Amino acid sequence: MEISVLKMKTGIENIKRSVREIKGYKNPPSEAEIKLNQNENPFPIPDEVKDEIFDAVRKIDWGRYPECDPAELRLRLGEYANFSPDGILVGNGSNEMILSLVLAAISDGDKILIPSPTFTVYPLLGKIVEGELITVNLTEDFRFDVDGIVTARKNYNPKLTIIPSPNNPTGCVLNNNDIEEILKFGDGILALDEAYIQFSDNPDGAIGLIERFPNLIILRTFSKALCAAGLRIGYLITNPELTGQIRKTILPYNIGIFSRTAAVKLIEAKNLINERVEYIIEQREYIFKELKKIKGIKPYPSQANFVLFECLEKEPNEVYSKLYENGILIRDVTSYPMLSRAFRVTAGKKEENNIFLEKLKEIMEG
Ligand code: PMP
Repeated sequence: MEISVLKMKTGIENIKRSVREIKGYKNPPSEAEIKLNQNENPFPIPDEVKDEIFDAVRKIDWGRYPECDPAELRLRLGEYANFSPDGILVGNGSNEMILSLVLAAISDGDKILIPSPTFTVYPLLGKIVEGELITVNLTEDFRFDVDGIVTARKNYNPKLTIIPSPNNPTGCVLNNNDIEEILKFGDGILALDEAYIQFSDNPDGAIGLIERFPNLIILRTFSKALCAAGLRIGYLITNPELTGQIRKTILPYNIGIFSRTAAVKLIEAKNLINERVEYIIEQREYIFKELKKIKGIKPYPSQANFVLFECLEKEPNEVYSKLYENGILIRDVTSYPMLSRAFRVTAGKKEENNIFLEKLKEIMEG
């Protein structure tokens, strides 16, 4: 065949339509004096822990590939999460685990059920693999519509249901009774993304249900409560047979020696982390209470490390820009379904939260 190089301007004709049609993950701005836009933990990893990590990494032979499936880390995660290491897979952030799961379960036209609004990575991946997305809206006050989810599982029998609990960006949760109710209907996988579970009223989450429900998968991350978004460590927990199948979609050596070593040391430092989680929960409640007092602002209760609020009186764009001009970065979620006047603010340190609250009050009431 003749090669029509001249007609082919950039080669994008070769990219599949499902990829050409999506916008891609919107890269949030990452610099600001007061950065409350990515649900990160405001506390750094202490220097003593960093030193231990550096010492341990120095002893490893950097010229060799790391293990394919980091055994010690899985063992430690098993103790930490109270689950057999055989059922645990570790990824480059929980994002990679979501990708592996979607690759393993979904092909052309298979149904994926998600709530809406929710974490944008699920629909993004669902579209890339050409799955059929079924969305169940949250209720008007931004809680999960459990009956709606059950009905959708009955009606559509989706292969995969992905629900974050707590949900991003609203902070609503499913309790374990809701989860059992959902699992009773349909035999498709339910993947519960527990990225923020440590900040909720049920910090142990739903891992205990895996024994009774072979189609339940739990996703966790080191990016939030464990203060390590930069390390990129996440994990997936389910029964070992299902784990074995999903493992096939992970590329070899996905976890480098640095992340592997740091993750083990962070699990050892978990007492420190628990204190920080308590602080962040207190700050989240403080932000919620203070937002309620500001004219034209409507916050929603959250069980994560952030608060969703609506800006009912001023133009949301203007409010966002004014905050940004003053060095304060929050997450603009006005493009999400149902959230055309909403923002999400991460619970930072008390001083940062106060500066944000004061400035917002000035903008709304000034
Ligand atoms: N799940 C949810 C619900 C999230 O909000 C995020 C990140 N904001 C992730 C997963 C991804 O986390 P990670 O850093 O582990 O990839």
